[in-house]
Amino acid sequence: MPRSNRPRRSGRAAPGAGGLPTSLRRPTVTEVSYAGAVWAVRQVRPNDSGRSYRCPGCQGEVGADVAHAVVWPAEAMQTVENRRHWHSVCWAARDRRRPGGSFA
Ligand SMILES: [Zn+2]
Repeated sequence: MPRSNRPRRSGRAAPGAGGLPTSLRRPTVTEVSYAGAVWAVRQVRPNDSGRSYRCPGCQGEVGADVAHAVVWPAEAMQTVENRRHWHSVCWAARDRRRPGGSFA
């Protein structure tokens, strides 16, 4: 039997490591406690999807073309229904912007 298999040592020498397009990186999700629940939070980069959302922190519009935070209940799957888009600054200041029961 000819040994045509390549040596299985390619794990370490991935070309372009460190230079991957951001789309191939796993988004960083953190979990935080807020308003009596645990929330998963993902920071979203500006994109040109043209969508806009309602920020629960200030009730203002969050355009997809600004960096913002997507937040959803950590114990649940992220769905369109349960995720919220916050301005990054509003999310950072959430303790001062605690919404009146509509969010949690
Ligand atoms: Zn806001």
